[in-house]
Amino acid sequence: MRPSFLDPLFAPVSTLPGIGPRTARHLVTLLGVDPSREPHVIDLLFHLPSGVIDRRLRPGIARAPEGAIVTLEVRIDRHQAPPRASRAPYRVFAHDDTGEIALVFFHAHQSWLDKTLPVGADMIVSGRVEWFNGRPQMVHPDHMVAAEEADTLPMMEPVYPLTQGLSGKTLQKALAVALDHIPEMPEWRDAEQARRLDWPGFREALLALHRPDPDDPGAEHAARARLAYDEFLANQLALALVRRSMRQTRGIARRFSGRLKAKILAALPFALTKGQADAVAAIEADLAAPERMLRLLQGDVGAGKTVVALLAAAAVVESGAQAVMMAPTEILARQHHASLAPLCEAAGIRLAILTGRDGARHKRETRAALEAGEIDIVVGTHALFQGDIALHDLGLAIVDEQHRFGVHQRLSLSAKGKGVDMLVMTATPIPRTLVLTFFGDMDVSRLTEKPAGRQPIKTVTVPNERMEEVIARLRAALDAGKKAYWVCPLVEESEKSDLAAAQARFEMLAGLLGPRVALVHGRQSSEEKTAAMSAFKDGPVSLLVATTVIEVGVDVPDATIIVIEHAERFGLSQLHQLRGRVGRGSEASTCLLLYKPPIGETARARLAIMRETNDGFRIAEEDLRLRGEGEILGTRQSGTPGFRIADTGTQGDLLETARNDARLILETDAELKGPRGPALRALLYLFSRDEAIRLLRAG
Ligand code: ADP
Ligand code: MG
Repeated sequence: MRPSFLDPLFAPVSTLPGIGPRTARHLVTLLGVDPSREPHVIDLLFHLPSGVIDRRLRPGIARAPEGAIVTLEVRIDRHQAPPRASRAPYRVFAHDDTGEIALVFFHAHQSWLDKTLPVGADMIVSGRVEWFNGRPQMVHPDHMVAAEEADTLPMMEPVYPLTQGLSGKTLQKALAVALDHIPEMPEWRDAEQARRLDWPGFREALLALHRPDPDDPGAEHAARARLAYDEFLANQLALALVRRSMRQTRGIARRFSGRLKAKILAALPFALTKGQADAVAAIEADLAAPERMLRLLQGDVGAGKTVVALLAAAAVVESGAQAVMMAPTEILARQHHASLAPLCEAAGIRLAILTGRDGARHKRETRAALEAGEIDIVVGTHALFQGDIALHDLGLAIVDEQHRFGVHQRLSLSAKGKGVDMLVMTATPIPRTLVLTFFGDMDVSRLTEKPAGRQPIKTVTVPNERMEEVIARLRAALDAGKKAYWVCPLVEESEKSDLAAAQARFEMLAGLLGPRVALVHGRQSSEEKTAAMSAFKDGPVSLLVATTVIEVGVDVPDATIIVIEHAERFGLSQLHQLRGRVGRGSEASTCLLLYKPPIGETARARLAIMRETNDGFRIAEEDLRLRGEGEILGTRQSGTPGFRIADTGTQGDLLETARNDARLILETDAELKGPRGPALRALLYLFSRDEAIRLLRAG
């Protein structure tokens, strides 16, 4: 249970002055919180200023620099209303010892101005000064208060990112109250570190940022570091708890002799690369050890991750347990099934498939067989794990193309069995800091080399107007027996019209190139998709028009051409994934990026990078640079909460510190019951990582 001293921080924001239920709803997006609940006071406190306006400059009217923010003490002399029906502004003239200034208002109500700036009053005004024809003016001062209330004017004024329905003033008012009610917090930092790093406490850090002290300009940096560290520590502690509980709960030391592996290797038409062999060896060692495996297999598109996964599954099957392989799409699940089937058959492994689109009868029978232990490996989409599916003895869960899944799905999956080992596969070369923040201390295997004999893919960009030329060349290539993909973009906002565009493109190409053209898209039935895919893989179809359903993992090694229409609309990683559909065999491949001019700066940069390199790691880095981190991992789509304060880009060193501290904490106080325990538990609540608390033993 949450400690009660945190209650004021977990009150709904609508308990603050000026914030009603409507504003509270607007705040959900701004604060990036779980949309199913009203934001809490702490969420508002974590909404940090993006900058500070310094109002300390008080030069007097005559010496106010052009364009500067100044604070002036003036006496109001006269009001000058614009003539009726004129567009001219309302002017209020005021003076101090040095000169005269006009305060300028557009669309102002006279009665309000009379009340706010009464003639003869001494006022403090603060805002930006502009010199116009040699005369100073201030348009819509930011603050106007009577001279005797000077101390209510913020000399260092924080500025906040805002949203529709929320003004800066409302936010400041609510924050003022919230800041007065932050409880004293127990310190979760260890004493040694507190001595070494001169940071403020948690409460003091929030105060320093929301109420900047003009006399202590260095405070901001220390306060931000403190809060970022806290957020990293909460994150790393939670991940370490998850990882520890995954590892502790009855990991099973698998016993296998390599009998099935030998059969699979004998049936493969190629030898494993060194990277593949190393990855398999690491996985086998993990499986044989009594702890649970938690391993990430990274390998660029086409690097050959699937066979590594199969060999992992084979070891578990040989030990008498079952394995599941989860794919992000129906097509990919079917393809995995199709490519694994002959190898499984050669090894005598019983393989099945289960997806959301399967018929009720097939599902029922497959589920029953899984429960009875009559199936060794099951391939499926996430539908596989919905509902109360039971397995006889689940030993290994393999998740392909992890970046499509949220972290939560990953956790729920591992709950389906006892001591389940986990292998996560991704083609996205996630930078190390991101692996750390999202997966914690996962072991990582990398497939750095491509299988031997692969030719680089030649990439060219072509403006739309030259489509006829492209089609003519395509015809020649198809006539010569080549296979090609033609990708049409599918943008979510207007799925229907995009689908229509893909349909239209298919009809046009079929009209020109004949019956060797087929169409595949996400809205088709499973049968239609499977038919189109297998006609392309083994049958009469040599040009496959597709929406991005083919983006992830589709494997037709003798396809050597890919045309991507409206390439300017795709992100870099997506383009790289799509391009990875070719260049999978020993023949040279081509990627044609069709674009519709004019295109923007970023799109131009993306296309240039695609032309320049085939290196997935370099592309991921560029993507990170062009887009920011959240999107690379697909967290935007899956809604995984990221970081609110900490920035892995600029504060990566704090992440390392937090990671080491989290490890040390759990080594010395595994159940968080020691003297710092209550403080650390509070920390997990503050940063919404309290799910991890459930993993601590009760009591
Ligand atoms: P990805 O890593 O993108 O999932 P796949 O596992 O689909 O890649 O493999 C891509 C292609 O490379 C497949 O056709 C696969 O059969 C082939 N392949 C995998 N390993 C090797 C190897 N060692 N030598 C030659 N071809 C291989
Ligand atoms: Mg794959």
